[in-house]
Amino acid sequence: MTEAQKEQRRYALAISGGVCEVCGAPLNDGQPQGAHRIGNTQSNRAKFGDLVIDHPLNIGYTCSLKCNAALDISKNPAACIELCKKIYNREALKYEGTK
Ligand SMILES: [Zn+2]
Repeated sequence: MTEAQKEQRRYALAISGGVCEVCGAPLNDGQPQGAHRIGNTQSNRAKFGDLVIDHPLNIGYTCSLKCNAALDISKNPAACIELCKKIYNREALKYEGTK
């Protein structure tokens, strides 16, 4: 494992509480998989923008490919809008008081 991969893994374990977001299995043993909630596809990038697709809130950590697929909300427009709201609210905090 490279230093960058180790770093990514530490980050994954830290923000996920060390467990798979879908099934609750510990992530320590397996290879944690970063899963996009809104899928990382060209059409989603065109629709939602890189800010949303690459945002940490759009990534969940799961234990397996099966759990990875369960996180995908691409086909649920209401859930996508809800997540976008969260992401934009989070980003807006960075600029609080600078307007
Ligand atoms: Zn899992």
